[in-house]
Amino acid sequence: MKIGTIASHSALNIISGAKAEGFHTQLYCRPNRIPFYKSFGLEDSIVEVDSFEQILEMDLSDVVLIPHGSFVTYIGAQKLLNSDLRLFGNKELLRWEENRKLKSKLMVEAGFTVPKEYSSLGEINGPVIAKTHGAAGGRGYFVAKNTDWAKEKMNPSVDYILQEYIVGTKVFVTYFNSLTRNRTEVFSADIRYETDIDSSLRFNDEPTFTVIGNLPLVLRESILAEYFDMGVAFVEAFHRLCNQKIPGPFCIETVIDREQQIYTFEFSGRIVAGTNVWIPSSPYSYLQHGEPVWMGRRIAIEIRELIEQNQLDEVLK
Ligand code: AMP
Repeated sequence: MKIGTIASHSALNIISGAKAEGFHTQLYCRPNRIPFYKSFGLEDSIVEVDSFEQILEMDLSDVVLIPHGSFVTYIGAQKLLNSDLRLFGNKELLRWEENRKLKSKLMVEAGFTVPKEYSSLGEINGPVIAKTHGAAGGRGYFVAKNTDWAKEKMNPSVDYILQEYIVGTKVFVTYFNSLTRNRTEVFSADIRYETDIDSSLRFNDEPTFTVIGNLPLVLRESILAEYFDMGVAFVEAFHRLCNQKIPGPFCIETVIDREQQIYTFEFSGRIVAGTNVWIPSSPYSYLQHGEPVWMGRRIAIEIRELIEQNQLDEVLK
């Protein structure tokens, strides 16, 4: 049994973690990035591919694939869902994540406070963020202070999602849901650093939200406790709605306002790049495990325990 992933996003995190746990690894890598991954000592893992989509045609029956953000970007959710790839994660959750209505339904079921969504301009009663479908890096989004401003900005031929704009601090919290240990672990927190919304000097109201990197964040312990409860509630809500478990990593994406109200605007049902900040360990994972454990390693530990408990095939279904 090997652990594999495509060479992008959090591949260094995943492959190094699998190696630390003694797994054979495969890193599907496009030619131009081979020198980069070799420079991290991963030459024995590299399997050269011309495009990431090529993994759909390969025989990977002895590989547990760890999906990350680039899988959906480069291969597409539908192709992944229709494939026989042995993905570590919940495929149904991936479907819910892809669909705006289902996504909101799950967040509400978990008891999260979510930004209001307006169905028309007339309903707007404060700052608003207008999002376009499938925008890369938020290009085409705009923020507006009020209805009049929003009306002026809107392109009549574009179908926008109008959402309450929450002024506050972005907080991205990652979790690991362990089936073998029957517990939800809060793994880490980070801030997504986005250009050009995060620049201190900005002269327009059409910022972009392209993620450049992530900054580490250690939360006040009382706030961390709230996020822990949210992680547990998320796993339970998905179980209530789908009667399925969530194996492994997920992320809850929030903004906290000045009243310290946590608003959740997104989630990811897989490893996120924010966990790259926490190699070789997050403070929380260190406390939970008593040794340095980064997300890639945490995943490999779980896979090893699932194999030992004869549960892996069930989880990969
Ligand atoms: P999204 O395309 O929904 O992932 O949003 C891209 C970025 O926009 C996020 O990373 C946040 O920085 C920001 N954002 C999204 N929704 C909101 C909101 N309701 N209030 C404030 N900022 C938001």
